[in-house]
Amino acid sequence: MERNHLIKPTLDQDYPTISHGNGIYLYDTDGKQYIDGSSGAVTASIGHGVLDIVEAMTEQARKVSFAYRSHFTSEAAEALAKKLSELAPGDLNWSFFVNSGSEATETAMKIAIQHWQEKGFERKNRIISRWTSYHGITMGALSMSGHVPRRKRFVPLLEDFPSISAPYCYRCPHNNETSGCKLKCADELETAIQRVGSENIAAFIAEPIIGASAGAVTPPDGYYQRIKEICETYDILFIADEVMTGIGRTGKMFAMEHWGVTPDIIALGKGMSAGYTPIAATMITDRVMEPILKGSKSIMAGHTYSANPLSAAISLEVLSYIERNDLVRAAEEKGQYLFKKLQGLAEKFDIIGDVRGKGLLLGLEFVSDRVSKTPFDLQIGLTPRLVNKAFAKGLIIYPAAGAIEGIAGDAVIISPPLIITNEEIDRLVMILEASLDELQQELHAEGLIEDMQAI
Ligand code: PLP
Repeated sequence: MERNHLIKPTLDQDYPTISHGNGIYLYDTDGKQYIDGSSGAVTASIGHGVLDIVEAMTEQARKVSFAYRSHFTSEAAEALAKKLSELAPGDLNWSFFVNSGSEATETAMKIAIQHWQEKGFERKNRIISRWTSYHGITMGALSMSGHVPRRKRFVPLLEDFPSISAPYCYRCPHNNETSGCKLKCADELETAIQRVGSENIAAFIAEPIIGASAGAVTPPDGYYQRIKEICETYDILFIADEVMTGIGRTGKMFAMEHWGVTPDIIALGKGMSAGYTPIAATMITDRVMEPILKGSKSIMAGHTYSANPLSAAISLEVLSYIERNDLVRAAEEKGQYLFKKLQGLAEKFDIIGDVRGKGLLLGLEFVSDRVSKTPFDLQIGLTPRLVNKAFAKGLIIYPAAGAIEGIAGDAVIISPPLIITNEEIDRLVMILEASLDELQQELHAEGLIEDMQAI
């Protein structure tokens, strides 16, 4: 056998080879068709093989693909930054381009710290974040991430930024399921600030809807309004990590619009180019930029490929495609249709404990007992088993296991491209149902669950 040189996610696993994509479908080199039910890693929001993007890509590449940002600006990068400022709420009028979501959140952290330094507050350099969160894999971004399995190997090198509970209503950290929500999880931010001292804190960072670490966990109404209030009271910047939620995915251009809250800094990635090129951005308000403009006049961050003309032209065309085809509204409408279908599955399968999310960022959480919400032991591998069964049947869904302190919690994300039709949603749900059926029967045979309605 020929030896392998590519380091893949799991080294002893065989992966099919991708051949091509079209719309919501991907095809491997054996001709097998897959519904991209998760848009890859919640990325391919306009679907695969869109020729308008290929044309924009080619047109820019014919002119110039790369020019270093210290030497030139480009029409494409200028136009993209302008477009984003038009789309974003409030005075988020500035964009710093990077290549990945991790770089976007890490840059957000650095800009927040620099903002305070330039105002003369040298000590305001800590970040507060939440447990059950994911902000990226580089050391700064991982320091902010409350994702136990991804942190574990590097804990001695990481900052202990995750300090407060996530707004995880299904498993309310304050046991308020019965007594009613008083937004105590938001008030935890105030307590954390008081403990550390606002004079030491630059910013608070949160994913509007929690993605990779929990599976579309959506906060209660009023949560972000309260968070913003606390940030303002204590002079702390609010960074919204919209890497997964941004650019239409949740049925609004920016997920924070669901709650009418304008953050001071936004990190974007994934949907910005819908997978057609690696590009991400840190967006900043006029207020945050002001001391930097008056002071050093330079943000201490950046990468060789930051703001490269080719990626910028591709992202610009993706944004234009989303607008031309009204895909933000589509995300909301199709999301409602898919949500109802998933609720239908929850009526059939007792192992579905929760259906959640907004727009086309939806999640299912699994439990061994619905009343007590008892999670399965992580060793059972429910999430990978379901993901693998669906994959074998031609449906890609995204695993989000480990939300309960990294030792339990099974969940998946269903987040197809925003172009999906109702008929395609029906097909997606049919394959998911068949996969759940098979899984539930297996769990029953293994004595891991009792009475089931499904068989
Ligand atoms: N932030 C959020 C909310 C994410 O979901 C992710 C990736 O899943 C990241 C940051 C990191 O993005 P990337 O994988 O592009 O570095």
